[in-house]
Amino acid sequence: MLERSTTDILILGSGGAGLFAALHAFNADPDLQITVAVKGLLGKCGCTRMVQGGYNAALMPGDSVERHFMDTIAGGKWLPRQDLAWRLVEGAVERIRELENELGCFFDRNADGTLHNKAFAGQSFDRTIHKGDLTGIEIINRLMEQVWDRPIQRLEEHRAIALIPTPTGDALSGVLMIDMRSGNFRFVQAKTVLLATGGGPTMYRYHTPSGDKSCDGMAMALRAGLRLRDMEMVQFHPTGLLAGPGTHMTGTVLEEGLRGAGGYLLDGAGKRFMYDYDERGERATRDIVSRAIFAEMRAGNTTPHGGVYIEMKHLGVDDVRRRFKGMVERCADCGFDLAGGRVEVVPTAHYMMGGIIFEPDCTTSLPGLYLAGEDSGGVHGANRLGGNGVANSTVFGGIAGETMAAHVRQGLAFREPDESSIEIETARARHPFTKPPGDLNALRERLLDLMWNQVGVLRDSTGLEQGIADLDDLKCELMETGLADGGQVFNLTWHDWLNLQSQINVSQAIARAALKRENSRGAHFREDFPGEGDLAASTYTVVRMVGDSLELSVKPVDFSIVKPGSSLIDGEAGMPAVAAK
Ligand SMILES: Cc1cc2nc3c(=O)[nH]c(=O)nc-3n(C[C@H](O)[C@H](O)[C@H](O)COP(=O)(O)OP(=O)(O)OC[C@H]3O[C@@H](n4cnc5c(N)ncnc54)[C@H](O)[C@@H]3O)c2cc1C
Repeated sequence: MLERSTTDILILGSGGAGLFAALHAFNADPDLQITVAVKGLLGKCGCTRMVQGGYNAALMPGDSVERHFMDTIAGGKWLPRQDLAWRLVEGAVERIRELENELGCFFDRNADGTLHNKAFAGQSFDRTIHKGDLTGIEIINRLMEQVWDRPIQRLEEHRAIALIPTPTGDALSGVLMIDMRSGNFRFVQAKTVLLATGGGPTMYRYHTPSGDKSCDGMAMALRAGLRLRDMEMVQFHPTGLLAGPGTHMTGTVLEEGLRGAGGYLLDGAGKRFMYDYDERGERATRDIVSRAIFAEMRAGNTTPHGGVYIEMKHLGVDDVRRRFKGMVERCADCGFDLAGGRVEVVPTAHYMMGGIIFEPDCTTSLPGLYLAGEDSGGVHGANRLGGNGVANSTVFGGIAGETMAAHVRQGLAFREPDESSIEIETARARHPFTKPPGDLNALRERLLDLMWNQVGVLRDSTGLEQGIADLDDLKCELMETGLADGGQVFNLTWHDWLNLQSQINVSQAIARAALKRENSRGAHFREDFPGEGDLAASTYTVVRMVGDSLELSVKPVDFSIVKPGSSLIDGEAGMPAVAAK
C-alpha cells in the first residue's frame, strides 16, 4: 500500500543537522509546512546525542576563526574544501551563541563566568565547549524541545529508502519511505528535501555510531547519481572498549583524555609499545595510535579478546576515579576496573569524513536536494578534528534550513514524480520477501570482518582488491537471501536487510576510493604508499554510480584561501601571512 503526502520542506534525520534545519526554516517563515522524517524517534537517535567531548568554536581572547580554520586545514591534511571549512569555523561562533542564548543550552563555565574551553587533540588553542562529557544530550534535548514546541510535522520511525526524481530526471520530486510501524510505503512529495541522515561507519567490526545509522543517505544519493568525495577517509578512534561477547558496549569510545592524562597502552603480555611507533608515545595523534594498536593486533600481541590494554593505576587510583568518573563507571558496568586494573581496548570506526558533494549554501547538483551534517563531504578532508563534527552538523543544518525556506518562498512548485521510479524502488525494498529465507546475520558478520581486515586501519592494494571482490560476492549473496518472516509490520529483520544493502553499497565506495588514493593522508594509510605525496598537487577522490557500477575519478584541491606552506596566522613559524577570506 502506498500512502502519499506533501510538504514544503522535508528533512530526513533528527540529529544536529536535521533539527537545526527545521528550526531555521521555521524562523525564516513560520507559514511553511515543515516535516521531519526520521528512522528512530525524534531527538532520540543518531550520533549528535552521543557527543561526549564537545563543540569547537573560537570564542576566547587570543583565539580566532583564522586559527580554527588553519587547524582544520592542517588536521585535514590540506584536503578540506576551503570555502566549506571557512563557513564551518565562522558559523560555529554564531551557532554556539545561539545554542546558549536562544535555545537554552547550559555549557560548563569558569569561575569568572566565561565558557570553559577544554583542550582537544590537533588544536593550537583550547576551544572545545562542553557540558561535562554529556554535551550531545544537552544540545539535542534543547533542540528537540524547541521543535516539539512548533507546528513542525513529525514522521517518526519512517525510514527513507529512495530519492524519487521527476520523469525527466533533472530534479528531485520527493522521497519514498517506509512507515516502519505499519510497514506501508509512503511517498512524500516535497519542494525541498534535506538529506541529514548522518553517514556512520557501522560496517566495521568495531564502531561507535548509533545502531540506527547504516549509511542510507549516502546509498540513496549514490543510486540517484550524485557524486561523493573523500570516501576513503574513515576516522578510527584508537580506544574503543572491547567488552567481549554478549554485550553491545564493544566499540564504545573511551575518551582521548585517558591517554592525554598519561595512561599506558600495553600489549597482551603487559609491555608498553607506543614508543616503538612514535616518540610521543601514547600521546601521539588518533591515527598513529590506531595504526600502532592495529599492527600489534595483527602481530598477535593481544589480550584475551584480541585487543590491547589501557592502564591508568600508576596515576593514582582515587585520582583516576575522580577525574574520569563517567569512563570508570562505564567500564565497571562491563566488569572492568579502569582506575585500578586494565581495560581491553581496540580501534573503533568513528566518523566518515567523506560524503556527498555540496555547496556552502547546502545546495547539491540535484535541484530540490540539500545536504548537511555527516552525510556531506569536503568539510574535514582527510581527518576531522574532535569537536568539529557537531559544529559541522549544526552550522550547516542551520544554513540548509535558511536556504530551503528562501527557495520555497521564491515560488518553488511541487514537481511531479517519476511514477516508474516509485514502482522500481518499492520492488527493490520488497525484494527480500521474494527470496527463500537465509542467514542474514552471517552476511553481516562477514561484512564487519572484511571491512575491518581489508579496508580498515592499514590498507594495501592486495587487501583492498580482495575486499572489493568479497564485497561484490556479498552483494550477490544478499540478493539471494530472503526473510524468514513474511510480514511488513514492524519487521526489524526486513530493516536489517535494507541496512545491509546500504552498508554494502557504501562499503564498495569506501574500498574503491581507498584503492584509488595511492598515498597516505590523515585517516587513510596505505602500507604500499606510506608517503603523503606532494601537498601542493593534492587531489581528492570522487565516486559516483553509473548503472550498477561505481565510477572513480580524482580532482585537484582548490587552495582558494590558503596554500600549503602558507598560513592565515600572522607570523606563524616559517609561514607568510595571507589575507583571510
Ligand atoms: C560516541 C560518539 C561521540 C562523539 N563525540 C563527538 C564530540 O565530542 N564532538 C564532535 O564534534 N563530534 C562528536 N561525534 C560526532 C558527531 O556525533 C557527529 O559528527 C554529528 O553529531 C552528526 O550529526 P548529523 O546530524 O549529521 O547526524 P546524526 O546526529 O547521527 O543524525 C542522523 C539522523 O538521521 C536518521 N536517519 C538515518 N537513516 C535514516 C533514514 N534512512 N531515514 C530517515 N532518517 C534516518 C537517524 O535516525 C538520526 O536521527 C561523536 C560521535 C560519536 C558516535
